[in-house]
Amino acid sequence: MTATILFAGGAARWPHWEAPLRRALSEAGIEAELATSAAPETVDFIIYAPSGDTPADFTPFTRCRAVLSLWAGVERIVGNRTLTQPLCRMVDPGLTQGMVEYVTGHALRYHLGLDAILAAQNGHWNPVVPPLASERPVAMLGLGALGAACARALAGLGFPVLGWSRTPKTLDGIDCHHGEDGLEQVLRRAGIVVTLLPATPATENLLDAHRLALLPIGAAIINPGRGSLIDDEALLGALGSGHVGHATLDVFRTEPLPAEHPYWSHPRVTITPHIAAETRPDSAARVIAGNIRRGLAGEPLLHVVDRGAGY
Ligand code: NAP
Repeated sequence: MTATILFAGGAARWPHWEAPLRRALSEAGIEAELATSAAPETVDFIIYAPSGDTPADFTPFTRCRAVLSLWAGVERIVGNRTLTQPLCRMVDPGLTQGMVEYVTGHALRYHLGLDAILAAQNGHWNPVVPPLASERPVAMLGLGALGAACARALAGLGFPVLGWSRTPKTLDGIDCHHGEDGLEQVLRRAGIVVTLLPATPATENLLDAHRLALLPIGAAIINPGRGSLIDDEALLGALGSGHVGHATLDVFRTEPLPAEHPYWSHPRVTITPHIAAETRPDSAARVIAGNIRRGLAGEPLLHVVDRGAGY
């Protein structure tokens, strides 16, 4: 099998990806012309991540069979009308594991009240026993590759997990819901809310003032999905009134988060700089090579984005 593959993931990423990709392509039995530039009409596959030097016009790539995203979130390319080839998103075991660790770590921080424990190291013996996980329902908004893995991990720790997705789902050990009524039911019971939804027109400002008001008082929010999922003004209002107890935010409408943004100085906001889960070159290169092998063999590609739904 031979293929010309354009790495359009940005010059800064190329040194981290070149060796893992060459190794994975060779292991998949593909003789690849892999480079950061190529005559567009010769390119069979494009490996893509948004950056200053990635193509905005895909029209000249006349024989390209698929664009393979290095990122799970595809909102910056999904609406590109010049892209007529299949677009595949990233589902990488390394990325998933990173997200599971991030979400369970921050959920346990809230659940065990670690901030209060650390703040009270003042010689004062004050035994406050946290409830068991079984007494703290967690809402998982999004039950895709990442949400489902995080939901299973939290359920494995004993949390009752209430899942919510666009289409009906059945997941062992997860109380699954969908639709507006389902969202309301899930939010009304959640001690912790995790948002692992894509940025689409349908998820814009999903957590607005009305839906935040459904949460039990003091609920915590963990958003490693996308900044657009939350109405920032509404969240600041809910934090100010104490209705929302704390928010851990990894993603923002503008990144890096501007220095003057009120989140930075808010005592009950924890900011992480979009590091919840990185695509890991070693495992992700095998996913990319596997999809290229499928494309060359005429097999269906994996993780194809539904362009209508936007994810
Ligand atoms: P995915 O497999 O495409 O799953 C998306 C989930 O969201 C699905 O369960 C889907 O429902 C649900 N959903 C989409 N639109 C919805 C709507 N309008 N109402 C209700 N549910 C809706 O995506 P993933 O791989 O789990 O990734 C999720 C998101 O995480 C990505 O899009 C990206 O934005 C973010 N992410 C962040 C980081 C980070 O470092 N912070 C890293 C990777 C990814 P159905 O199951 O019914 O389709």
